[in-house]
Amino acid sequence: MTYFKTFWTLLFIVKGYFAMEPIILIHGGAGDISDSRVKGKFDGVKIAVVAGHKILEQGGSALDAVEAAVVSMENDENFNAGYGSVLNLRGEVAMEASIMRGEDLNVGAVTLVKDFSHPISIAHKVLTDSPHSFLGGEGAKLFALEKAGVGTVGAVAIDKHGHIAVATSTGGMNGKAVGRIGDTPLIGSGTYADDNVGGVSTTGHGESILKYCLAHSIIKLMENGTDAATATREAVTGMTDRLKNTAGAITLSKSGDVGIFFSSKRMSWAYIKSNKIYYGIEHNQILEEDYISK
Ligand code: ASP
Repeated sequence: MTYFKTFWTLLFIVKGYFAMEPIILIHGGAGDISDSRVKGKFDGVKIAVVAGHKILEQGGSALDAVEAAVVSMENDENFNAGYGSVLNLRGEVAMEASIMRGEDLNVGAVTLVKDFSHPISIAHKVLTDSPHSFLGGEGAKLFALEKAGVGTVGAVAIDKHGHIAVATSTGGMNGKAVGRIGDTPLIGSGTYADDNVGGVSTTGHGESILKYCLAHSIIKLMENGTDAATATREAVTGMTDRLKNTAGAITLSKSGDVGIFFSSKRMSWAYIKSNKIYYGIEHNQILEEDYISK
């Protein structure tokens, strides 16, 4: 019995010693972003990545961290999600979001959500409190009224326990048809997380991303031994070559390697790793600043 206890105590100490360095990586949407919007995007991704990292620093879960980062961007009019959502052809907002926990592959997704500011929080509640995985329209609204308060944005995080989570949220495409559903709430297209491999959040032309199952294509490449950066580049380029539309993706591997790639003109992104914030929006641009965690 005591041997048994000693074994577990030792294992606990060893695990603590080898705790993962928590990392959070986010994007603020891919597309033809005009020069005048670059500063707003940079400010927004920096605020959001810090909001998510604070949760990880305090020992919080990857799932809570990705939600916090996405909520921050949903509040920010610089992004096409939550408050900044684009309108459909009838002039209405219809938001979509999904979240996934890599530990047990549990998911929560919502689509055609109106009248709430944080679709990602409803998706999180679907994950934790609903027997279902994906709720739409009226059903999502009813569920939100019971359970939650409420460019495309996304976040991928790994917490100190090595658990991975991913969240993605969007207002969809500008001028979309009434009832149109894109890639963002679709698990495997907009979002994927698996503790055994890594996590991916995507953005860009929804109809192409969903045909190509872009998030899961990246995960499959990594499962077969490709590193995060190469897998992200190969899958995004493969989708664009095949379907002639653009996209972007952010990826974290289970060991904390980062992949960022986009075939669109621009994509804002940021991550915090080893006390630095890295960020960018142009191709091959990596800016960095010191990040002192408090
Ligand atoms: N992928 C989103 C959609 O098609 C749009 C975006 O990423 O900006 O709904």
